[in-house]
Amino acid sequence: MNKKQKLEHLKQKVEGDPDLPFKAEATTLVFGEGPINPKVLFIGEAPGKNEDLTGRPFIGSAGKILEELINSIGLTRQDVYITSVIQYRPPKNRDPKPQEIAAFQPYVDKQIKLLNPKIIVTLGRFSLAKFLPNSKIAEQHGKPTQINWQGLYLTIIPMYHPAAIIYNQKLKQTLKDDFQIVKEYL
Ligand code: URA
Repeated sequence: MNKKQKLEHLKQKVEGDPDLPFKAEATTLVFGEGPINPKVLFIGEAPGKNEDLTGRPFIGSAGKILEELINSIGLTRQDVYITSVIQYRPPKNRDPKPQEIAAFQPYVDKQIKLLNPKIIVTLGRFSLAKFLPNSKIAEQHGKPTQINWQGLYLTIIPMYHPAAIIYNQKLKQTLKDDFQIVKEYL
Protein backbone atom coordinates (compact mmCIF):
# COMPACT_ATOMS: atom_id res chain seq x y z
CA MET A 1 0.00 0.00 0.00
CA ASN A 2 1.25 3.48 -0.75
CA LYS A 3 0.88 6.33 1.74
CA LYS A 4 -2.37 7.60 0.27
CA GLN A 5 -3.88 4.13 0.50
CA LYS A 6 -2.60 3.72 4.05
CA LEU A 7 -4.27 6.97 5.10
CA GLU A 8 -7.51 5.94 3.40
CA HIS A 9 -7.32 2.55 5.09
CA LEU A 10 -6.79 4.24 8.47
CA LYS A 11 -9.77 6.52 7.85
CA GLN A 12 -11.91 3.47 7.10
CA LYS A 13 -10.74 1.87 10.33
CA VAL A 14 -11.76 4.96 12.31
CA GLU A 15 -15.12 5.04 10.54
CA GLY A 16 -15.64 1.37 11.29
CA ASP A 17 -14.83 1.59 15.00
CA PRO A 18 -18.19 1.27 16.77
CA ASP A 19 -16.80 2.29 20.17
CA LEU A 20 -15.52 5.76 19.44
CA PRO A 21 -17.03 8.53 21.57
CA PHE A 22 -19.75 10.70 19.95
CA LYS A 23 -20.14 8.35 16.98
CA ALA A 24 -23.81 7.76 17.74
CA GLU A 25 -24.68 11.47 17.87
CA ALA A 26 -22.41 12.69 15.10
CA THR A 27 -23.26 12.93 11.40
CA THR A 28 -19.85 12.45 9.79
CA LEU A 29 -16.31 11.58 10.76
CA VAL A 30 -13.95 14.54 10.40
CA PHE A 31 -10.72 12.67 9.82
CA GLY A 32 -8.65 15.56 8.46
CA GLU A 33 -7.54 16.80 5.06
CA GLY A 34 -4.50 18.00 3.22
CA PRO A 35 -1.49 16.78 1.28
CA ILE A 36 -0.04 13.38 2.14
CA ASN A 37 3.45 14.83 2.63
CA PRO A 38 2.70 18.02 4.57
CA LYS A 39 5.44 20.20 5.99
CA VAL A 40 2.98 21.58 8.52
CA LEU A 41 0.20 19.80 10.35
CA PHE A 42 -2.39 21.81 12.27
CA ILE A 43 -4.17 19.95 15.02
CA GLY A 44 -7.23 21.36 16.76
CA GLU A 45 -9.74 20.19 19.30
CA ALA A 46 -12.94 18.74 17.87
CA PRO A 47 -15.33 19.29 14.96
CA GLY A 48 -18.20 21.74 15.33
CA LYS A 49 -21.54 21.86 13.55
CA ASN A 50 -20.35 22.75 10.05
CA GLU A 51 -17.53 20.23 10.19
CA ASP A 52 -19.93 17.53 11.37
CA LEU A 53 -22.26 18.18 8.46
CA THR A 54 -19.56 18.15 5.79
CA GLY A 55 -16.81 15.90 7.15
CA ARG A 56 -14.25 18.68 6.61
CA PRO A 57 -12.13 20.18 9.41
CA PHE A 58 -12.16 23.89 10.28
CA ILE A 59 -14.71 25.18 7.79
CA GLY A 60 -16.86 27.27 10.17
CA SER A 61 -16.00 30.61 11.77
CA ALA A 62 -12.82 29.31 13.44
CA GLY A 63 -11.86 27.82 10.08
CA LYS A 64 -12.24 31.17 8.36
CA ILE A 65 -9.83 32.72 10.87
CA LEU A 66 -7.42 29.80 10.50
CA GLU A 67 -7.43 30.15 6.74
CA GLU A 68 -6.66 33.88 6.95
CA LEU A 69 -3.77 33.15 9.29
CA ILE A 70 -2.44 30.44 6.97
CA ASN A 71 -2.64 32.89 4.07
CA SER A 72 -0.81 35.53 6.13
CA ILE A 73 2.34 33.39 6.03
CA GLY A 74 2.19 32.80 2.30
CA LEU A 75 0.53 29.37 2.42
CA THR A 76 -2.90 28.17 1.40
CA ARG A 77 -5.15 25.61 3.06
CA GLN A 78 -4.15 23.16 0.35
CA ASP A 79 -0.50 23.34 1.46
CA VAL A 80 -1.11 22.08 4.99
CA TYR A 81 -2.78 19.16 6.72
CA ILE A 82 -5.56 19.96 9.19
CA THR A 83 -7.04 17.62 11.76
CA SER A 84 -8.16 17.47 15.40
CA VAL A 85 -7.60 15.26 18.48
CA ILE A 86 -11.32 14.38 18.47
CA GLN A 87 -12.80 13.44 15.11
CA TYR A 88 -16.52 13.32 15.83
CA ARG A 89 -18.49 16.34 17.02
CA PRO A 90 -19.10 16.34 20.79
CA PRO A 91 -22.73 17.12 21.70
CA LYS A 92 -23.25 20.88 22.01
CA ASN A 93 -19.54 21.31 21.30
CA ARG A 94 -18.67 20.50 24.89
CA ASP A 95 -15.05 20.04 25.95
CA PRO A 96 -13.79 16.51 25.46
CA LYS A 97 -12.91 14.45 28.53
CA PRO A 98 -9.48 12.81 28.89
CA GLN A 99 -10.87 9.32 28.24
CA GLU A 100 -12.58 10.57 25.07
CA ILE A 101 -9.32 12.02 23.77
CA ALA A 102 -7.62 8.75 24.72
CA ALA A 103 -10.11 6.75 22.64
CA PHE A 104 -9.12 8.61 19.46
CA GLN A 105 -5.43 8.73 20.33
CA PRO A 106 -4.19 5.51 18.69
CA TYR A 107 -5.76 6.56 15.39
CA VAL A 108 -4.54 10.15 15.58
CA ASP A 109 -1.03 8.94 16.45
CA LYS A 110 -1.04 6.61 13.46
CA GLN A 111 -2.29 9.43 11.22
CA ILE A 112 0.52 11.74 12.37
CA LYS A 113 3.16 9.03 11.90
CA LEU A 114 1.95 8.36 8.37
CA LEU A 115 1.92 12.06 7.51
CA ASN A 116 5.32 12.60 9.16
CA PRO A 117 5.21 16.43 9.15
CA LYS A 118 8.16 18.63 10.02
CA ILE A 119 6.14 21.10 12.06
CA ILE A 120 3.05 20.56 14.17
CA VAL A 121 1.04 23.61 15.12
CA THR A 122 -1.18 22.80 18.07
CA LEU A 123 -4.38 24.85 18.20
CA GLY A 124 -5.70 25.18 21.73
CA ARG A 125 -4.92 23.42 24.98
CA PHE A 126 -6.07 19.89 24.13
CA SER A 127 -3.67 19.35 21.27
CA LEU A 128 -0.92 21.18 23.18
CA ALA A 129 -1.32 18.67 26.01
CA LYS A 130 -0.83 15.82 23.55
CA PHE A 131 2.75 16.86 22.79
CA LEU A 132 3.78 19.02 25.75
CA PRO A 133 1.83 17.78 28.75
CA ASN A 134 1.79 20.06 31.79
CA SER A 135 2.60 23.16 29.77
CA LYS A 136 0.30 26.17 29.83
CA ILE A 137 -0.87 27.74 26.61
CA ALA A 138 -0.50 31.28 28.00
CA GLU A 139 3.21 30.59 28.58
CA GLN A 140 3.95 28.30 25.66
CA HIS A 141 2.16 29.90 22.70
CA GLY A 142 4.46 31.02 19.91
CA LYS A 143 7.44 29.17 21.38
CA PRO A 144 8.73 26.41 19.09
CA THR A 145 9.91 23.28 20.88
CA GLN A 146 11.81 20.42 19.26
CA ILE A 147 10.75 17.04 20.53
CA ASN A 148 11.26 13.39 19.80
CA TRP A 149 7.69 12.17 19.76
CA GLN A 150 7.41 8.41 19.36
CA GLY A 151 10.53 8.42 17.21
CA LEU A 152 9.56 11.40 15.06
CA TYR A 153 11.63 14.58 15.32
CA LEU A 154 9.07 17.36 15.40
CA THR A 155 8.96 21.08 15.91
CA ILE A 156 5.88 21.85 17.97
CA ILE A 157 4.59 25.40 17.72
CA PRO A 158 1.75 25.93 20.20
CA MET A 159 -0.96 28.46 19.36
CA TYR A 160 -4.21 29.62 20.81
CA HIS A 161 -7.24 28.05 19.14
CA PRO A 162 -8.53 30.39 16.37
CA ALA A 163 -11.98 30.29 18.00
CA ALA A 164 -10.44 32.05 21.03
CA ILE A 165 -10.34 35.23 18.94
CA ILE A 166 -14.10 35.17 18.57
CA TYR A 167 -14.40 35.57 22.35
CA ASN A 168 -11.28 37.62 23.00
CA GLN A 169 -10.30 40.12 20.29
CA LYS A 170 -7.06 40.91 22.12
CA LEU A 171 -5.71 37.52 21.11
CA LYS A 172 -5.97 38.36 17.42
CA GLN A 173 -2.61 40.11 17.25
CA THR A 174 -1.02 37.41 19.42
CA LEU A 175 -2.15 34.71 17.03
CA LYS A 176 -0.99 36.74 14.01
CA ASP A 177 2.44 37.23 15.59
CA ASP A 178 2.70 33.56 16.54
CA PHE A 179 1.94 32.55 12.96
CA GLN A 180 4.91 34.55 11.71
CA ILE A 181 7.11 32.18 13.71
CA VAL A 182 5.88 29.23 11.63
CA LYS A 183 7.32 30.97 8.55
CA GLU A 184 10.82 30.84 10.04
CA TYR A 185 10.59 27.06 10.42
CA LEU A 186 9.21 26.20 6.98
N1 URA B 1 -12.34 23.39 15.73
C1 URA B 1 -11.49 22.36 15.85
O1 URA B 1 -10.71 22.29 16.81
N2 URA B 1 -11.50 21.41 14.91
C2 URA B 1 -12.30 21.46 13.84
O2 URA B 1 -12.25 20.57 13.01
C3 URA B 1 -13.17 22.57 13.74
C4 URA B 1 -13.17 23.52 14.69
